[in-house]
Amino acid sequence: MGHIQYYMNYADQPTAYREGANPGFHEAIGDLIALSVSSPEHLEKVGLLERTSNEELRQKVNLNYQLKMALEKIVFLPFAYVLDRWRWDVFAAEGGLDHALNRHWWTLRLRHQGLSPPVKRSERDFDPGAKYHIPAGVEYVRYFASHVLQFQFFEHMCGFVEPKGTGSGKPSSWGDSLYKCDFDGNKLAGASLRAMLAKGSSASWQSILKDFIGSERMSLGALRRYFTPLESFLDGFISRHNLTVGWADAKGKLCVLLLEGRGVFNEHFFFSGRLHEQCLLHLLLHFAHLWLRRRPRLPALASRTRPHPLCLCLPPQG
Ligand SMILES: [Zn+2]
Repeated sequence: MGHIQYYMNYADQPTAYREGANPGFHEAIGDLIALSVSSPEHLEKVGLLERTSNEELRQKVNLNYQLKMALEKIVFLPFAYVLDRWRWDVFAAEGGLDHALNRHWWTLRLRHQGLSPPVKRSERDFDPGAKYHIPAGVEYVRYFASHVLQFQFFEHMCGFVEPKGTGSGKPSSWGDSLYKCDFDGNKLAGASLRAMLAKGSSASWQSILKDFIGSERMSLGALRRYFTPLESFLDGFISRHNLTVGWADAKGKLCVLLLEGRGVFNEHFFFSGRLHEQCLLHLLLHFAHLWLRRRPRLPALASRTRPHPLCLCLPPQG
């Protein structure tokens, strides 16, 4: 539906400009709307979630919502990066990585996602081909861009919305409750979005971004501000449980997350199953540090890493 709204809004542009400012913009629109309408605030508003006056319960709901969103959004970033990084490496390599297609896939999976296969793999397997966009030849970095841009768009839209309970009658700073913003019904936010969509690709994406949100740069700042409450929760969790953040690289043992039972998990994981709760937190810690803070650097990290006790370690694969 996000795509269709974009089509409708740039329909009056000359044919050549009837496209998104860049492919990442096109992907970000639907997700932008979903960030607003999947919030607990919005679900309460439309009667899909019961309103509660129990403050403790409300806090739990909010933290669970942050965790769910982090699994969707933060965990996705390294996956999207790995998919096209692998493809670019294949195209760039002399001889096209002929005898290391699958191995290179798992090297990147481990380096950036901390995942390794649960069974032995070889060049007789072609695991990247399990993702539609590889056999279909659809570039993938657009989804990486979208996951950055949609939070910048979201923060901008929320600048038109008055945070609940401030009573100022004016939009003000959201502080660490940005994730609670619901811009549904806000005419000013809608007009701002519509103006951006209507431009299609008639200018560079940087200038369209600048006209829309006031900056021409892609930045992870908005995403990080969205997850502020989760980040402080995880910081506390790390110190309370004395956890080491990171994973061993391919030179050492391959560590995988220990899975229990069955259940649903998203397509971006090689494994489908229910992650042990603490392993899941462990995973989030990795991404929070590697992708948001970009520190400590991976090699330094790997050299002093011990796996989380709930994560299973396998011997190195041949
Ligand atoms: Zn799409």
